[in-house]
Amino acid sequence: KPISELDQAAAATEAASLRTELNQWRQDYYDNDAPKVEDDTYDREYARLVALEAAFPSIVTSDSPTQLVGGTVKAGFTKVQHPIPMLSLGDVFSQAELQAFDDRLRQNVEEPFDYNCELKIDGLALSLQYENGKLVQGSTRGNGSVGEDITRNIMTIDSIPHELSRPLTIEVRGECYMPKAAFAALNARREAAGESVFANPRNAAAGSLRQLDTKVTAERQLSTFMYNVADYEPLTARTQSDMLAEFADLGLAINPTFKVAHSMAEVFSYIDHYQNERPDLAYGIDGIVIKANPLPLQRSLGATVKVPRWAIAFKFPPDEQPTLLKDVEWTV
Ligand code: NAD
Repeated sequence: KPISELDQAAAATEAASLRTELNQWRQDYYDNDAPKVEDDTYDREYARLVALEAAFPSIVTSDSPTQLVGGTVKAGFTKVQHPIPMLSLGDVFSQAELQAFDDRLRQNVEEPFDYNCELKIDGLALSLQYENGKLVQGSTRGNGSVGEDITRNIMTIDSIPHELSRPLTIEVRGECYMPKAAFAALNARREAAGESVFANPRNAAAGSLRQLDTKVTAERQLSTFMYNVADYEPLTARTQSDMLAEFADLGLAINPTFKVAHSMAEVFSYIDHYQNERPDLAYGIDGIVIKANPLPLQRSLGATVKVPRWAIAFKFPPDEQPTLLKDVEWTV
C-alpha cells in the first residue's frame, strides 16, 4: 500500500513486522555469516522501513535496524571497544538519488570540494591499531561500538604489515575480503568434503576471519584494502585521496582504482566504468563509495548514529553474472 494511504497505527504495525523480519535476517547475516535472503530482498524491505519511519518519525524504535550497525560479538571472542564508532554507509540506488545527496551536501557546505570515488569492496570492515608503527591489535566492526578482538587472526593475513614504514600510532580501517578465485576454490573443497558452502565471498570472508582457530583463517587466503582512519592527525595527508597514497607509502594495502572527481559527471562516469569492469575484477564489489575529499570537511560534517554525512554508497543492481557458486556446481 502506498505510504500516503497509511495512518500512524497501520504504519507502526507494518514497521514492527518489518523490524522483526529484518533483525532475524541481520542475525543470520552478521552473526552466523549465513544469509537467508539475497541482499536486494533485504535492501527492499529496509528501504520500506526507512520510508515508513520517515513519514511517521514517532514510530522509530531503538531496536530498529535503521538505528543499528552490524551484529553482535561472537562467543569466545574478547570484546574491543571502538572509542570512535565504526559506522555503516548510507546508500542510494540511482543517479537521481546520488545527485540529491550531492545537492543536499552542497547546500550545507559553503566552500567547493571534490569527491574521492572508491570501489565498495564486498567484504567486512576491520580496524588495525598500530603503536609506534607496530601492529598491536585487530578488531571487527561488531555493532559499531564494540567489535571482536581478531588480533591473532589478522597476524596471518599477508597483506597486513606487522610494521609500518614510519613509527606512527594510528588506527587504520578498511575491508577484509576473499578474492573470487579463493572463494571458488574454498567452496569447491567444501562441497567435495560434503560441507556447507558459503553463499558469497563476503560471508566467506567474515566466516574465515571470525575464527577462534587461527589456522583456519591462515588457510583462507584473505586479503585487505585499507581506506579510513579513526583520526587523521598522525598523517601528513589532509585529503582522502592523499591519505590512500600515504597508506601505500606506509606499506598498507590499498585499492588503486580510486579517483578524484571534480564534478558529478565524473562521478557518474566512474560508476559506469566500474559497473562494466565488475565481472573482471579479482574481488567482489557491490557498488561505489563517494567521499568528500577534504579530511577536515569529513570531520566537520560528522555522522548520524549510523552513517557518516560526508560519504554515500551507490549500490549496483544484484550481480546478474552466474555466480561462482553456480560455476562450481556445474563443473563438479
Ligand atoms: P554496507 O555494507 O552497505 O556499507 C557499509 C560498509 O561498506 C562499511 O562498513 C565498509 O565495511 C564497507 N566498505 C567497502 N568498501 C568501502 C569503501 N571503499 N569505503 C568505505 N566503506 C567501504 O553496510 P552494512 O551496514 O555493513 O550492511 C548493510 C548491507 O548488508 C545491506 O545493504 C545488505 O545488502 C546487506 N545485508 C544483507 C542481509 C541479508 O540477509 N542478505 C542482512 C543484513 C545486511
